[in-house]
Amino acid sequence: MKRSEYLKILNLAKISLEEYNNWGENEIYKTSIADASYGKIVSTEIKRQISPTEIFGSKEELERLREKVNSCKKCPLGKSRLNAVFGIGSSNADLMFVGEGPGYDEDHKGEPFIGRAGQLLTKIIEAMGQTRKTVYIANIVKCHPMIDASNPEKRSNDRPPTFEEMEICKPYLDMQLDIIKPKIIVTLGASSTKGLLKSGEPISRIRGVVREYKGIKLMPTYHPAALLRNQDLKKFVWEDMKKVARYLDMGEI
Ligand code: SF4
Repeated sequence: MKRSEYLKILNLAKISLEEYNNWGENEIYKTSIADASYGKIVSTEIKRQISPTEIFGSKEELERLREKVNSCKKCPLGKSRLNAVFGIGSSNADLMFVGEGPGYDEDHKGEPFIGRAGQLLTKIIEAMGQTRKTVYIANIVKCHPMIDASNPEKRSNDRPPTFEEMEICKPYLDMQLDIIKPKIIVTLGASSTKGLLKSGEPISRIRGVVREYKGIKLMPTYHPAALLRNQDLKKFVWEDMKKVARYLDMGEI
């Protein structure tokens, strides 16, 4: 068979599987196998769970999810946002940072952690020997929570997401985790930590203590914005990041 014919068949199979997946099916059935050497039909059922990532690859699957988020209006934040802020980084990252939600700069550019706090996060990532391209950065809510939702052009109009907003948006983060499969999550600040762990403990007490979310190790630490307000917190974040780096290197924490 010519290579072009082979690619055409592969592409058709991919489109069919995509439609199959859109119907909500995630199982493939292969029911009868002809065994020519014995001249009979061997009635065998092979049934295997497949994930969309197996079909499309993690990068492509993340892009499909990004499109869903871009058109999402499931909570009121979707009405006032300028851009949904999906996430950025490697679709195969071992390390994933999760903040609370986009602010003014992020809402305008559609990218997470690009303001002053984001620049500090970039320095922390680089101090760990990584880059923004080798890790993955996302938020627990994808749209800008504003104090005055009627004015996205106003500066200092940011607020933390409510628990309800986090609950509505969290399935998108869960899907990102299912696709990327990081070895460890770092929650940045009280909101994302509370949203994932459902813990009311203050971040000053819970930070540095490893937990689990969906079977993935989770390290809570301070939000970079808190470090801009209080330089004394930097040493605690550095302690936490050293533990994370050791876990990534040696598998122990
Ligand atoms: S915050 Fe999340 S749930 Fe709410 S509109 Fe944006 S993407 Fe949808």
